Amino acid sequence: MNSPPRICVVGSSNIDLFFRAPRLPKTGETLAGSDWRLGYGGKGANQAVMAARLGAQVSMVSCIGQEVFGEGVLKNFKAEGVDTTYVCINAHHPTGLASIVVDDAARNCILLVPGANQHLTPQNVRTAASAIETASVVLCQLEVPLETTLEAFRVARAAKVLTILNPAPAASFPDELLALSDYCIPNETEIELLTGLPVHDLIQAEAAAKALLLREAGTVILTLGDQGALIVSQNESCHMPAVSVQAVDTTGAGDAFIGSLAVFLAQKAGLREAVRKANAVAALSVTAPGTQMSFPQREAVDSFLKSLAPP
Ligand code: ADP
Repeated sequence: MNSPPRICVVGSSNIDLFFRAPRLPKTGETLAGSDWRLGYGGKGANQAVMAARLGAQVSMVSCIGQEVFGEGVLKNFKAEGVDTTYVCINAHHPTGLASIVVDDAARNCILLVPGANQHLTPQNVRTAASAIETASVVLCQLEVPLETTLEAFRVARAAKVLTILNPAPAASFPDELLALSDYCIPNETEIELLTGLPVHDLIQAEAAAKALLLREAGTVILTLGDQGALIVSQNESCHMPAVSVQAVDTTGAGDAFIGSLAVFLAQKAGLREAVRKANAVAALSVTAPGTQMSFPQREAVDSFLKSLAPP
């Protein structure tokens, strides 16, 4: 039997607190809500959990606070089988936390405190160098300091480890980061912000992806919601349609796509095959509510893939 693929994620871990209220509170008002629930989030953590659910051996490099929320994040990683050796606990900054109030009209109001995520340092990355160097794929997003992400990709590139950048949330960054990325995976909003180009159809999508290629990105994979994904490299442009499903909640679809794509690439699937399968995993995730809660396990993915028409 093949040993499981090794994935290292250098990124954010958050707690999401969801509140339900009849309407959004006004300034100075104390309003009675009807419900609340806690979810685990952060793009880094979400992608790590997705990869682990597909059976990968995942190592997380992240930073959390020294309180009950940090303990919850660690407990969740352990329950998902994610290695937490390089999750550092910061005594001076709180765990990243998002407070999300949703009202009866589905309007929302979000307050996000990145907290300890902003204190994951290049030194933390160097301490975790062995986890990066022994991985098949290193995954980064833009929810931790840029210099930390850069350091992770420098260590990975020196060890010839495949790098995947999810440039989310969209922010400006130096071309060096793109040049260190074998794959760059934005969604439509992110690529519009990164390139200043509109993306309303496939032709515009390809033009925007080519603008990122000019900045030395390896291959761009643009996710297009219910339209699937577009692969654009120096040699090819290929649209891979989404799997048609009844969508219930698309939160976290991008994280399901990227976390699973990392696993399929680590297992040496060809790029188109890996994207076809990641489209299927992300489609499954939108059929259930929540973020990590909606991510499918390996068995569900395998049987869903079998049920689809052959490519
Ligand atoms: P994000 O979650 O970052 O906004 P997208 O909306 O582009 O990212 O979705 C990521 C992937 O999830 C898509 O490439 C596609 O594979 C899948 N997906 C998203 N929405 C749907 C949908 N309604 N039906 C099927 N697949 C979907």
